[in-house]
Parts: sequence; structure tokens; C-alpha cells
Amino acid sequence: MNEGALPSLEYFVEQFLQEMHWQGVDQSIRQGCLTKLEDAKKWYQQQLDQGSNKPLELERKLTKKLQESIVFTGQFDKVEAVGNQGEVRVVDYKTGEPDKHIKALDKSEDLSSEECDDYLRQLVAYKLLYDRPHRGLRVTSGSLVFIDPIKTTVKKYGLEEGAFISKTIPITEAMVKQYEGLLQKVWSNVRKLEFARLPEYDDKKCDYCPYKGVCWR
Ligand code: SF4
Repeated sequence: MNEGALPSLEYFVEQFLQEMHWQGVDQSIRQGCLTKLEDAKKWYQQQLDQGSNKPLELERKLTKKLQESIVFTGQFDKVEAVGNQGEVRVVDYKTGEPDKHIKALDKSEDLSSEECDDYLRQLVAYKLLYDRPHRGLRVTSGSLVFIDPIKTTVKKYGLEEGAFISKTIPITEAMVKQYEGLLQKVWSNVRKLEFARLPEYDDKKCDYCPYKGVCWR
């Protein structure tokens, strides 16, 4: 941000290795990271070639009090200006294969739908957290930048094996309103201790659930 330019590829690699060292990872994680580094280098080189917007802000934690005493927090990766009317874009960097998210995002319209990709809800959450009318800045879009390459070519979704992809999505006030409604509904269920067992085991949800061992015994 100070120099108005992305750091060199050498610096990127140096920082990656240093962070891995500081995290004190074991041998198998280290090996996995070093394999990932090869793709990360290709992705970063592409950023250098294409150029990247100068950030307005990086990695800031945001907190907002909502109705029903909900304290909502989140931390964005990057915010950049788009145009000069106070419009900004939130950028979120994603690891993991982009394929399934790109396909799911294509069909994600209703935030309350089970089929809606979580990444879309996350972008809406950033707008909810970031927008403050008195600052004159407002989020009008969110960008998901995948740093892992596409696994399989699917022309319909613009996926090309081995390429890197980013997806920018307009984020509106109406989406924020709907998302706030969802938050309140979920929070009210939590307060009533309503944690209904799903009618069927669901890999996507139950695998992350701390009650899995009890619920599916
Ligand atoms: S394991 Fe968790 S998410 Fe899955 S049905 Fe049980 S309580 Fe719900």
C-alpha cells in the first residue's frame, strides 16, 4: 500500500516460508504447504502480470450491533475503491478448489435457500458490516479470488482446467436486508435452543457439527 505496487514474487515466497516456519507446522503439513506453494506462485505471478487494485484497507476486523442484541463480527481480507463515488469492493481470497463454488454461485439467488453458496452470504455479510453512511463509503460488489487452480474444464461455467478464476458479484441493500432477517431468525432459534436434527444425515453440515457423535449414534 505504501509503495503503490505489489511486492515481488521473491518476497511473496519468502513471506510464505516464513509464516509456515512461525506456525511450527509438522512435516506432513509442511510438505502439503510446499506443494501448494507451486500453485500459489503461479497465481501470484498472474497477479503481478495483470496488476492489482491498490487496497484502501487490509484485514480489518469489523463489529456491528444488530437488533435483538446480536453482536456480529467479521474480518475482511481487502477493500478496494471502484470509481470515485465512494463505491468499494470487498475482496476475499479463497483456498480450495473453486469448481463447486463457481457452479453453486451461478445458481445462488435466494440467500435463504439451502442451495445458496455460503460464499455469497459471506460477501453480503461484509457489506452489512462495512457500510457506514457517515463515512461516504459503501460496498457495491464483492470479489472472490480463488488462489487454487480450476480442477476440471466446464465451458458452461467458464471453468478451464489449470486456470485461476475470480468472481465478482454485485451486492445490494436488498440482499443485506434479507441477510439481516436470516441472522435474526437463526439467532432466535439459537436462543430457544432449537437445534433440530436434520431429516437425513448431511455430509456438508453434519461433518462440521460438534454433535455428530451424539446425534448419529
Ligand atoms: S449432526 Fe449436527 S447438523 Fe447434523 S443433524 Fe445432528 S445436530 Fe444437526
